[in-house]
Amino acid sequence: WSKQDFPWTKKLEANNKKVFGNHSFRPNQREIINATMSGHDVFVLMPTGGGKSLTYQLPALICPGITLVISPLVSLIQDQIMHLLQANIPAAYLSANMEWTEQQEILRELCSGYCSYKLLYVTPEKVAKSDFLLRQLENLHARELLNRIVIDEAHCVSQWGHDFRPDYQGLGILKQKFPKIPVLALTATATASVKEDVVQALGLVDCIIFRQSFNRPNLRFSVIPKTKKCLEDIDKFIRDHHFDECGIIYCLSRMDCEKVAEKLREYKHKAAFYHASMDPEQRASVQSQWSKDEINIICATVAFGMGINKPDVRFVIHHSLPKSIEGYHQECGRAGRDGQNSSCVLYYSYSDYIRVKYMLSHGVVEQSSFTSGQPRAGSTNSGRLETNSENLLRMVSYCENDVDCRRFLQLVHFGEKFDSFNCRKTCDNCLNSQTLVDKDVTLIAKQLVELVKSAKQQFSTSHILDVYRGSMSQIVKRNKHNLLSLHGAGKHIAKGEASRVLRHLVVEEILVEDVKKSDLYGSTSSILKVNDPKAGNLLAGRQTITLRFPSAV
Ligand code: ADP
Ligand code: ZN
Repeated sequence: WSKQDFPWTKKLEANNKKVFGNHSFRPNQREIINATMSGHDVFVLMPTGGGKSLTYQLPALICPGITLVISPLVSLIQDQIMHLLQANIPAAYLSANMEWTEQQEILRELCSGYCSYKLLYVTPEKVAKSDFLLRQLENLHARELLNRIVIDEAHCVSQWGHDFRPDYQGLGILKQKFPKIPVLALTATATASVKEDVVQALGLVDCIIFRQSFNRPNLRFSVIPKTKKCLEDIDKFIRDHHFDECGIIYCLSRMDCEKVAEKLREYKHKAAFYHASMDPEQRASVQSQWSKDEINIICATVAFGMGINKPDVRFVIHHSLPKSIEGYHQECGRAGRDGQNSSCVLYYSYSDYIRVKYMLSHGVVEQSSFTSGQPRAGSTNSGRLETNSENLLRMVSYCENDVDCRRFLQLVHFGEKFDSFNCRKTCDNCLNSQTLVDKDVTLIAKQLVELVKSAKQQFSTSHILDVYRGSMSQIVKRNKHNLLSLHGAGKHIAKGEASRVLRHLVVEEILVEDVKKSDLYGSTSSILKVNDPKAGNLLAGRQTITLRFPSAV
């Protein structure tokens, strides 16, 4: 597909320069354009900032008729349309929350003998819920004016993805109605199973797949233990490494965003918060101040991001645990789009895991970039819940891992091979690798599992650790846990070490956290249970566990 002698090649190059102002194509852009213009269904995996928009906007411009683009977010669509109109490319959008008269006007143009629009953007619910739109498309199709269908953020189709949207599932109807019209599906994030799911749900035929490495060499990754001084740490980090530069701090709840922003302002940073329960004007104003560099730090929920095009974001900090590796990768991807070195720092605490787990199971987590401000329908059904907790557990495992290269860990998740040699010490684990030593902790692990059993699987992580280390506290005595044979068995073991083994057992699903209750301000209570088949292997001596610890020098 990289050949330069397609009938449209000259036109392509001329318009890329003249209309879009690009001197050349970025990796894969030419190939994708040639494949879709040859009439194939195409699936594109390209990291954020790779230049996906051009792969359909340029064909839309030089092909006769109209390109239908399905995109999840009105703000993203508006941003695109603004750019298209600036380049004199006629484009319009239809969305559910648009004035009826405005919609009428666009529809009239669509019905007119020669429709002038080159691109028509719609939100997915327009396709799922409006027969009306389908009739318009049929009409265009009958007049041979429907040229191509583009599904942006295509991973939203998949239940297995981190950003499932029920309305996307209805998009299969497009291929059924218009089997001959080429579909171009684009995403910046998809594992192998998500990709299969998307191809199937959309009904793509003999689809040509383009994927490029998701490694972002200019981003530096690290995970830092989150303590009570987290905000002081963040302040210091920004001062030391990114003073007066632009960054995003992702927070779990709306309240966290506000608190973090306030604290940073006390530290004299130009910070603001952004979340879905602000009204649209407030949000727009924050976004515009940010793009004009009047604010340089935005404390946001994941609602902030999709479609953020600022090239010089120098750091992305996660103030709490992201909900999946895919989400994390995408959020980090907003840093360093201009190719300059940028930092991605994640503040991790195990207690955040419990908190996020609780929030996910109660459907109170703000999802990325949803339009309405309401939690998405279907976010609490049981299949979803299971996927969500698996995704979350993988994220915990990423954070708990202080051995393997962060890039390797992320890329393996996307089914990509990566030799950590090529990280060149641009992640914390590669940097620290010499100073750690392996240690067999199988015995500690067995004792902890036994202890959870003998405490009748009704106690929390910290209680189990207390008993293991021989505490004689009121609660220990009241429960007669001082009489258990393993009481004090870990007296000589550092608390941090025992606690790491315990967390590792949860990551390995030998123990399970059963989250009981919580308020949204951080206090959660959960009890540890034993996952029998897996624990059996350990207790029967069929499994050993080694972890790495700092060498004692
Ligand atoms: P994505 O959708 O993959 O995140 P975009 O389509 O938003 O990426 O493109 C990211 C940035 O790269 C935009 O500012 C765009 O103008 C720019 N860009 C895209 N293609 C090219 C190119 N061939 N040459 C130079 N800049 C480009
Ligand atoms: Zn590394």
